[in-house]
Amino acid sequence: MQTRSQWLTDVAGDLPPFPQLRQQITADAAIIGGGFVGLWTAIALKTLEPNLRVVLLEADACGGGASGLNGGFVMSWWPKIGSLLRACGDDDAVWLADQTTQAVLELGDYLAQHGLDANYRRSGWLWTATTQAHTGAWHAALAATQRLGRDEVFQALSPQELAQRTGSAVHIAGVFEAINATVHPAKLGVALAKIAKTLGVEIYEHSGVTALERSRPARLVTAGGSVTAAHVVIATNAWAASVPELKHKFVCVGSAIVATPPIPERLAAIGWTGGESISDSQATVTYYRTTHTGRIIFGKGGGRLYYTGEPGEGVFQDPVGIREAIADFRRVYPMLADVELERHWSGPIDRTYDSLPVLGSLPDASHIFYGIGWSGNGVNPSRIGGRILAGLVLGRRERWTENRLVNRKVRSFPPEPLRYLGGSLVRGAMARKDRSEIAGRPPSYLDRTLARFAPAGLEDKK
Ligand SMILES: Cc1cc2nc3c(=O)[nH]c(=O)nc-3n(C[C@H](O)[C@H](O)[C@H](O)COP(=O)(O)OP(=O)(O)OC[C@H]3O[C@@H](n4cnc5c(N)ncnc54)[C@H](O)[C@@H]3O)c2cc1C
Repeated sequence: MQTRSQWLTDVAGDLPPFPQLRQQITADAAIIGGGFVGLWTAIALKTLEPNLRVVLLEADACGGGASGLNGGFVMSWWPKIGSLLRACGDDDAVWLADQTTQAVLELGDYLAQHGLDANYRRSGWLWTATTQAHTGAWHAALAATQRLGRDEVFQALSPQELAQRTGSAVHIAGVFEAINATVHPAKLGVALAKIAKTLGVEIYEHSGVTALERSRPARLVTAGGSVTAAHVVIATNAWAASVPELKHKFVCVGSAIVATPPIPERLAAIGWTGGESISDSQATVTYYRTTHTGRIIFGKGGGRLYYTGEPGEGVFQDPVGIREAIADFRRVYPMLADVELERHWSGPIDRTYDSLPVLGSLPDASHIFYGIGWSGNGVNPSRIGGRILAGLVLGRRERWTENRLVNRKVRSFPPEPLRYLGGSLVRGAMARKDRSEIAGRPPSYLDRTLARFAPAGLEDKK
């Protein structure tokens, strides 16, 4: 099996590499990290203030981190409405969730306006149960949308409709969120880098920041040069664990994906032709979708925990996560048992306790901002995050910067080694609980108890 992300393989050569930083330069704003968060921030800054000098430093290649490895689900925050309400209160929660809806709706047109295409397809998302214990996992989210006057967000589907749309009768209950889309994430990364470049963002690749001096202006050091910048944005996903003020705000967990070859005729035979993306309700969530070429991309979240939160090279090839993804794929689509899996890969998830991001400025360095903790739903919300971060850099007083998501207090994870040891115990319990429930057996008391300590998931369940 091939071990490079299908997406990154598809776009190899589409984006001429950006230079390495080899001199000392100054900037109004320096962004660390060339994933979706960093790129959207750069784009928002240059869109709002075209004369600003914006420099983006990427350790590897733009879009080569989580942004080039993900499932390409372009999702709203409505499945997270419970956490949003707790974090931000009614007004801001609804406003933010509405912004994510708007962002999903606009993405395809925004790329088209720039003459770019990332296989954006708006076919909706199915939130399903594949075992009795998970039915109704969406009840609280559904009730909240109804209370908040957004009844149209989720539609309940009958088991027959679900089986028909997903191509598998394993899905016994579920709801449909019609606005959600899918995208080719690496094509999106290429598109955003091209837009940023056109707007005048100075991008340097293979230019990892090795030291961030909190002086005013700040100084960012790379192997070949440095940037002196009035403002800094940290957009480095789980690699932000190297920043002492941020490392307790999230844990790094793995997520793994397997991909079939193009099998459009098999998809037609089972009836999964509508382009819907699908997640189940396991704590170690499985998520799957089809591509424009007729592949199935099948992922498994809630994977292994990484010590100190900082992902090492192993994060790109997690054998346990990949094995679990394969097992779930074979369970959900037994009629495709003869289809060989062509590729597998994995990547880091920067997971906060409530699985919502944290955005703000460092306590003793108000000119250094961060946007991390996307928790496995960052493809679409990164655009919201980029707009918020740009507003913060520009010192704007507006809804983007003055809502309660910004500079919120979040629950800290314990220090190491407790975080790793305790977290691994909890992760093991979550996985065993999921396996028992899928098999129709009650989970053990110990696993149920330990699993209660798990951070919130990709969706707020029950
Ligand atoms: C397997 C997987 C599946 C996922 N599926 C989905 C999905 O279907 N839908 C969804 O919404 N979200 C999904 N996500 C999450 C989503 O990919 C991210 O939240 C989103 O891409 C935003 O990423 P980012 O910009 O924060 O991080 P990244 O894309 O990881 O970008 C951070 C960048 O920072 C760079 N960097 C790190 N340290 C330094 C340094 N010192 N100096 C300079 N640069 C540095 C890294 O090289 C990296 O390129 C998934 C993630 C994974 C791993």
